Amino acid sequence: SESEYDIEVAGFGDEAERELPPAPVVAVVGRPNVGKSTLVNRIIGRREAVVEDVPGVTRDRVAYDATWNGRRFTVVDTGGWLPDAQGLAAAIAEQARLAVDLADVVMFVVDATVGATDVDEAVVEILRRSGKPVVLVANKVDDVGAESDAALLWSLGIGEPHPVSAVHGRGSGDLLDAVLEALPAEAPPETFTDLGGPRRVALLGRPNVGKSSLLNKLAGETRAVVDAVAGTTRDPIDEEIQLGGKTWRFIDTAGIRRRHRENQGADFYAILRTQSALERAEVAVVLVDAEEPLAEQDLRIISMVVDAGRALVIAYNKWDLLDEERRHYLEREIDRQLHNARWAPRVNVSAKTGRHMEKLVPAIETALEGWNTRVPTAKLNQFFADLVNAHPHPIRGGKQPKILFATQAGVRPPRFVLFTSGFLEEGYRRFIERRLREEFGFEGTPIDITMKIRE
Ligand code: GDP
Ligand code: GDP
Repeated sequence: SESEYDIEVAGFGDEAERELPPAPVVAVVGRPNVGKSTLVNRIIGRREAVVEDVPGVTRDRVAYDATWNGRRFTVVDTGGWLPDAQGLAAAIAEQARLAVDLADVVMFVVDATVGATDVDEAVVEILRRSGKPVVLVANKVDDVGAESDAALLWSLGIGEPHPVSAVHGRGSGDLLDAVLEALPAEAPPETFTDLGGPRRVALLGRPNVGKSSLLNKLAGETRAVVDAVAGTTRDPIDEEIQLGGKTWRFIDTAGIRRRHRENQGADFYAILRTQSALERAEVAVVLVDAEEPLAEQDLRIISMVVDAGRALVIAYNKWDLLDEERRHYLEREIDRQLHNARWAPRVNVSAKTGRHMEKLVPAIETALEGWNTRVPTAKLNQFFADLVNAHPHPIRGGKQPKILFATQAGVRPPRFVLFTSGFLEEGYRRFIERRLREEFGFEGTPIDITMKIRE
């Protein structure tokens, strides 16, 4: 039985609906020595997976990025697990169940030179009952002469045996074609955040923090008004502004300017505007008034950015008005109240004097970089292997949840899927996030961690 828990790691408020499916998982199952890790090596095209001479030895890394004909998927070598079960048959059966739970497609590897064994038959039983797509691999078919061995595997009753030689590569292209065909339909390409053109910035903040002032200061002479929808008569709503040698598109600047004229308007509309600006933006600069204590509304706006999964920069404005005492208190306030967004770059600016304006662009660029960071699967799994080794999850009720493997499901923002053998408790998940940030940066971006639990 598999259940999914979506964990809002970095959020202050409600969970966001921004789950995208991870790269599909292809699990490789089979008895020891049939050639699973050789095949995995062949598929990922690197000598990365270690081929062990000792059967059943636990490998640190079990999941790898693979691409075939432009399609990305994750290959999982179940041979890397040493199941707790006693005896070969039980261990393989346990591996097959695990694979069935975790994978979108199972590659079942049989040694064609040996033929189907009782253990293979038992695995077939499990695979068949699962209803998961299975691609049957007849391995060690090193030459044409051995193809008749492969054909005998039709008798297993789970479809066509694909003759390959994992060692020489023979037949591996056809095999991968079959795997691709068995994969679930491809997810639609990632959203508008992939669009080209200038990076899109939302300048957010409650009334009177200085948004219009900052905008005017930034825009200076270089301001250019752009139309929201080409060819319509709607009000121009965005502005393109040159900063640090680049063009940036500031979202809903008309709203910022108009709101000002309209004497701020109702809170409700302010939230709607913030929401719609966020939908079109990639990165948000949240302006807060450094002179005043952080307000509920400031925190709410920051939560909205996090929940929308956008990159975040926090700008403390009106720095010119600060005295020593306030400055001192401010640091403690930030520490206490912004602990959930400690990863956001902070700049202390003054829209009035122009103080530290030049620090804004580097902060935005840092945040966008973090937002777009992808960690290779092998590196990620090495990281988790080390982490779990050094700091295993506490034992609860006699059980110790394990992280079997992890993949990064997407970027903008980075999203991770952890395949675990039990529920990871809150404290441990926060620890994971902290360590991920220490290791890989992710400055200025929320990160999203989902557990796929096998109980
Ligand atoms: P695993 O235990 O299933 O991961 O199997 P390995 O990948 O470690 O392979 C077991 C042994 O079979 C190794 O000595 C491999 O070199 C050998 N082997 C793997 N694939 C082939 C193949 O296609 N042809 C031949 N002749 N040997 C193979
Ligand atoms: P908005 O409602 O967020 O667009 O805020 P405005 O840009 O209209 O600014 C509100 C008030 O704060 C105005 O009186 C500005 O002159 C003032 N203000 C904005 N930025 C600064 C700053 O950096 N220092 C000082 N001293 N005043 C500022």
